[in-house]
Amino acid sequence: MAAPPAFVPPTRVLHGPGPSEVAPSVLRALAAPTIGHLDPAFLGLLDAVRSMLRQVIGTENELTLPMSGTGSLGMETCIDNLVEPGDRVLVGIHGVFGQRLAEVARRAGGEVTVVEGEWGRALDVEQVRKVAAGARFKLLCVVHAETSTGALTPLPPFRALADELGALLLVDCVTSLGGVPVEMDAVGADAIYAGTQKCLSCPPGLAPVSFSPRARAALDARKHKVQSWYADLSLIAQYFGGERLYHHTAPINMLYGLHEALRLVLEEGLEARYARHRTQSAALAVGLEAMGLKLAVPAAERLPPLTLVEIPQGIDDGRVRKRLLDEHNIEIGGGLGKFKGRAWRIGLMGESCQPERVTGVLSALRSVLEAEGFRATKTR
Ligand code: PLP
Repeated sequence: MAAPPAFVPPTRVLHGPGPSEVAPSVLRALAAPTIGHLDPAFLGLLDAVRSMLRQVIGTENELTLPMSGTGSLGMETCIDNLVEPGDRVLVGIHGVFGQRLAEVARRAGGEVTVVEGEWGRALDVEQVRKVAAGARFKLLCVVHAETSTGALTPLPPFRALADELGALLLVDCVTSLGGVPVEMDAVGADAIYAGTQKCLSCPPGLAPVSFSPRARAALDARKHKVQSWYADLSLIAQYFGGERLYHHTAPINMLYGLHEALRLVLEEGLEARYARHRTQSAALAVGLEAMGLKLAVPAAERLPPLTLVEIPQGIDDGRVRKRLLDEHNIEIGGGLGKFKGRAWRIGLMGESCQPERVTGVLSALRSVLEAEGFRATKTR
């Protein structure tokens, strides 16, 4: 049988909840010749990646490295390394990713208490404090940027709460890293994980993870081995650290890509990058509201890289997204969980967060909505 033709992806304009557009120089880096994972040149690249990751995360943590997998592996890594059977874990849930954290913590044998926050709002620290009711916990888990709802939760009040509960603070930074300040050390977070395909604008496939010295000490003091051999940081650290012990074959070319993506972030400057995300998302919000659309998250709690727009009554969710893709090559996201069928998610992440992209997505959405019978005016 003849081999199929080589795959050529269509040209798309990515405004979903991730992946975001990848810079041409990152794509070129991915295509560089593969070398060995113990080659001195590659080990030098790994050191550079870890050093740049520390800068972007805002940490001096020695245990900072990219896990070979997507953001969910970052989540599993943090939970599996910090939770032993019977450990008490408190999880704030205000969207799909809090739910996933709770499920992963249960699978790790944790005794999980969940706090059901309001979807589309920042997590309310007072509500979490009330549910905790002064009990002791090993771990408090918070999703910084809830991609399923477009809400951003300020972290410092959760550090204070974690101290009251005697807990380590674990933060999901998958959609914040590179687009919104994470400032891990300044916040006092003990463990964070992220993904490469959102505001870092690298393809999906790596999960930056960082553990504070306190989290590292908790890992070293475990009574049981980490249940996942692949995600056991005490083993993986021996490859990334001085010993360079083989653990698994690092995804070489993805790491070339991450190196270039992080380099671009630092070249732009963190403050300039955060300001770009704030400015463009504010422009998007103004344009959407000017069309008569309603944003689901209150302005003060919005996540700049991701905007949740309510689907107007009588407008078909799937038809609009299909027309945007077919007629304009634009991808936006559908709602997840409680927002399924009720909202669209429009991403402005990393390379996709540019003024001309904002006007492009606004005008395409306007023309599709008008064709679908929506009167795109403020008098709705
Ligand atoms: N956490 C958050 C907040 C996310 O947005 C995502 C992915 O969208 C994940 C975790 C899981 O990451 P991945 O899909 O890369 O496994």
